[in-house]
Amino acid sequence: MSTTTNILAGWLIDGSGGPIQEKMLLKIVGGKFAAIEQYNPETVPESCQFTDLSHCTIMPPLVDSHVHLFMSGTIDKRIREWQLVTGYDELRPVIGQHLHYLFSHGVLAARDGGDRGGFALRYRSEKEMHKGIVLKVAGRAWHQKGRYGTLIGRYPGEMENLAEAYAQENDAIDQVKLVNSGLNSLKIFGRQTQPQFTRDEIAELVSAAEQQGRKVMVHANGVQPVRLAVEAGCHSIEHGFFMGRENFELMAEKGTFWVPTLFTMKAYGANINYAQEGADLQVIEKNLNHQIEQLAMARELGVNVALGTDAGSLGVLHGESMVEEMKLFKKAGYSLAEIVQCATSNGARLLGIDDFGLIETGKTATFLVTRGAPPQLPRKLSYLEAIYLGGEPSELYRKNPVKHMVSKKD
Ligand SMILES: [Zn+2]
Repeated sequence: MSTTTNILAGWLIDGSGGPIQEKMLLKIVGGKFAAIEQYNPETVPESCQFTDLSHCTIMPPLVDSHVHLFMSGTIDKRIREWQLVTGYDELRPVIGQHLHYLFSHGVLAARDGGDRGGFALRYRSEKEMHKGIVLKVAGRAWHQKGRYGTLIGRYPGEMENLAEAYAQENDAIDQVKLVNSGLNSLKIFGRQTQPQFTRDEIAELVSAAEQQGRKVMVHANGVQPVRLAVEAGCHSIEHGFFMGRENFELMAEKGTFWVPTLFTMKAYGANINYAQEGADLQVIEKNLNHQIEQLAMARELGVNVALGTDAGSLGVLHGESMVEEMKLFKKAGYSLAEIVQCATSNGARLLGIDDFGLIETGKTATFLVTRGAPPQLPRKLSYLEAIYLGGEPSELYRKNPVKHMVSKKD
């Protein structure tokens, strides 16, 4: 016989982007949501027992659509340099620690955007290591020889084109990562770099990847690098600084996802002494403000936006940077329900996790409990009240187990 649990939620943000609902009764049977309805003390039978979370807000687990598990967001130069050269045996506990941070901030799914050794991929194959977190990985990214991307990947051989090089691979990756521009300048505002690949090369890669059921995520900043990738049919643009309005219009039309990683720029500003030499705080601030304006434009044009932090980048810590990224979405004019949608169901769609991202009847009852009313968000995500996995409070998250059963409440 399957167990039945009833939960009274003070507020429910269901991940769809729709209005926040108050006083909701969630019925969970056999680990899945069996009914979600407005709580009415008149109609609830006297014998109905439920866990009283009327002082809490409930929402789906978070999805970070862009992380690099092999790197810490630390500003300690020695640690960063070590992580960039060391091997899997040393990085294995580092990756484990990062996953622990993700979990304790309610990030129960993440997509790794690549590393030079396929470390996240190897870790993912050790299934007992990442209980409670759905991990999607891109393995080693593709870039052009001599261009940006060495830290996170490799390049096609001398006589190979991109799609041929990809076809030689048999890594068990989930998505393909391509690098099609350089990094953003922290010295010259809005400086753009050349694309690394042609539209045809990218289109061939996309087609080869799609045949294997994989999406292609493209690191691209600037008008041209983004345009070629979107026209070639890629599935998501990562970062996308300075891509401009026409690209957003095209992405809205084609349904291409955008992962704007705004907090990376804010973190450069906050840690400018550890950023590249000659970095200019005014340029960094202008870059950030421009990206916030672009996000407002994307919202207005109806672009699919998934929230991703680029955790592992300088000053961008795994887990807690989700809250920072959410705050910047607020600055771009997103409502709380819309921010949660980008950080839950949109991410789940981009990562291809069907049973995730929405609180609705029929889905697995995995969700976050935050103390207080919605205006306390996103801040309270740093101090979760509980994490439920398949209808049960997670034992992996022991901070404050919820255990107050009551019968009927007015
Ligand atoms: Zn990245």
